[in-house]
Amino acid sequence: MGRTMRIDLHTHSTCSDGTETPAELMASAARARLDVVALTDHDTTAGWELAEQAMQPGLALVRGTEFSTLVHRGGGRTTSIHLLGYLFDPLDPAIVAEHLRLGLERRNRGLSIVRKMRADGVPITADQVLDIADGAPVGRPHIGRALVNAGLVTSVDEAFAGYLAGSGPYYVHKVDTELEKAIVMIARAGGVSVIAHPRARGATQVLTPVRLAELAALGLNGLEVLHPDHDDAARRELFQLTQELDLIPTGSSDFHGTNKKLVLGQELTTAAALDRIVAAASGVVPVLQT
Ligand code: AMP
Ligand code: FE
Ligand code: FE
Ligand code: ZN
Repeated sequence: MGRTMRIDLHTHSTCSDGTETPAELMASAARARLDVVALTDHDTTAGWELAEQAMQPGLALVRGTEFSTLVHRGGGRTTSIHLLGYLFDPLDPAIVAEHLRLGLERRNRGLSIVRKMRADGVPITADQVLDIADGAPVGRPHIGRALVNAGLVTSVDEAFAGYLAGSGPYYVHKVDTELEKAIVMIARAGGVSVIAHPRARGATQVLTPVRLAELAALGLNGLEVLHPDHDDAARRELFQLTQELDLIPTGSSDFHGTNKKLVLGQELTTAAALDRIVAAASGVVPVLQT
């Protein structure tokens, strides 16, 4: 019997809030003995070409994006949900427009967070954060690195526990795409949609089995079952749901370089699940080895 395929379908590069360039990430994925890696930066496809230019022998690339979406909870409150889109057409006008809007939204929101911090005497600057982001959609991890550089915390993790916490004094909301709209948008662009870490943080309350059934009927393709944020009970529940709703179960590390303590390949997707993703996609084909 052959060796189990090592397939990791969720990673971030410097094109969003990871710390390795797409080329470095491809080299790291080869070193981690992955057979397939998906690059899924937040709200951008900017890393796709860079990753393609750095193809490694024996390593296939699946091009994707982690879309920032939201679900309404009533009373004007929303919950943030991350949606992985794979193999969609990167030139699809609706997706290009939405990524542009989200990029501006992220920039304005990042600068608002910095303004709040500065008003409170926290010595970081907007320029520092924009330099760290270096053109990528601005995320809280970039602000976290500025806080590390200023010696205010020792790690991005520590920044998230304090300065950057969703419940903290400096948090600023951003207006993400509605989850249902994002699912339809990805499908129309020939892509495959998988909800990222559906049992992490606030997602559990809004992603009830009933709601997931509705989303499946709308065209949702899969659920990320194996994710570092999921405990065993969550993994069992989600796997059961993928079977009941005929959704594709995936597993991934959500690697962010040194911004998080996660290792490439620490959670894996089966070859059968990847086959289903590829079969469902018509936007772009996965890039196989050079
Ligand atoms: P944002 O998209 O700006 O709201 O920031 C959320 C991003 O920060 C997500 O993509 C997570 O990957 C990342 N993140 C969340 N918690 C942590 C943490 N404790 N340490 C590092 N990064 C985190
Ligand atoms: Fe991230
Ligand atoms: Fe995420
Ligand atoms: Zn992610």
